[in-house]
Amino acid sequence: MIRKVKTMACPLCGCEHFYVKNPDDEYETCEFDVKNGEVVFASKDKESWRPEFTEATETYCDNCAWHGKLNALKK
Ligand SMILES: [Zn+2]
Repeated sequence: MIRKVKTMACPLCGCEHFYVKNPDDEYETCEFDVKNGEVVFASKDKESWRPEFTEATETYCDNCAWHGKLNALKK
């Protein structure tokens, strides 16, 4: 059985850099990249806020106006 390589990218621009907003603090965001289908946080700071990714997590493209559920990136 052949497994397809998972890729995640913005449906509009193909960018792989995103951020999510803290639901408790709209000014707090967490940036991350998706590489080979995995989330890689941009910040190494362990003190900073980390989102919990669920099917309802609203994700924002860093490069264009696209935003949507994280699972919409999966192709
Ligand atoms: Zn985009």
